Amino acid sequence: MKILIVGGVAGGATVAARLRRLDEQAEVILFERGKYVSYANCGLPYYIGGTIAQRAKLFVQTAKGFTERFRIDIRTEQEVVAIDRTRKQVTVHDLVSDTVYSESYDKLVLSPGAEPLRPRIEGIESRKIFTLRSVPDTDAIKQHVDTQHPRRAVVVGGGFIGLEMAENLHHLGLQVDVVEMANQVMAPLDFSMASLVHRHLTDKGVGLYLEDGVVRFEERSEGGFSSICRVADNWLRIW
Ligand SMILES: Cc1cc2nc3c(=O)[nH]c(=O)nc-3n(C[C@H](O)[C@H](O)[C@H](O)COP(=O)(O)OP(=O)(O)OC[C@H]3O[C@@H](n4cnc5c(N)ncnc54)[C@H](O)[C@@H]3O)c2cc1C
Repeated sequence: MKILIVGGVAGGATVAARLRRLDEQAEVILFERGKYVSYANCGLPYYIGGTIAQRAKLFVQTAKGFTERFRIDIRTEQEVVAIDRTRKQVTVHDLVSDTVYSESYDKLVLSPGAEPLRPRIEGIESRKIFTLRSVPDTDAIKQHVDTQHPRRAVVVGGGFIGLEMAENLHHLGLQVDVVEMANQVMAPLDFSMASLVHRHLTDKGVGLYLEDGVVRFEERSEGGFSSICRVADNWLRIW
């Protein structure tokens, strides 16, 4: 049995390990278009904030370790770009050598995850606006914080990840504002429960803008600050 897996983080890596436990003979190839496999997304904000001090702690397993322990053929920086279900084969773009090849399969597992939404808000292309999903995203934020020493940050979105970023940027000493379009943060919670979180945020000095959406980001160069975001009628300086 030859099994191909697309995506090498939580879903893909777990499937690979499980398959090996179920079948010692199966040929398993895992394709990951990024450089890293099997890392802990939940730790990313805490590495930025310094609670997780060592970058290496983010990685549950390396590609080399995975191969040695589970005999899985891990192919990083290889993007699956097409699937031919009739012929049972995928087309793979090797991002390092910029070549294309195909690989056949008996079974195909798709675990390509998701990407952060970047809404089409004016000014969103600024290099000072970050998203957080992967290790490279994390490295970019951490590098910016460590080298540019920003004093303020705006987190757009009061979901779990947004609040974790607010917590960690606050922990680093930044003045943080959270902007959320709904009337509460953490949508799955009842309003009464979310109110406790609102109280906690404001007690910590985090600015909380509810029922308010960012309408524009604007770059300015005066006074060391540069990005300005407009939340309804208020202007917030970020970074
Ligand atoms: C900051 C952060 C904190 C989180 N905290 C928690 C938490 O505390 N608790 C919790 O339960 N969950 C948490 N999550 C969510 C959890 O990390 C995700 O649910 C989980 O990572 C999803 O795993 P996945 O394998 O489905 O997708 P992903 O982690 O997105 O991995 C998919 C991989 O597939 C690769 N890929 C996509 N297309 C292709 C292709 N065509 N060819 C090759 N490779 C491809 C991508 O590069 C990516 O690396 C957090 C997520 C983030 C971002």
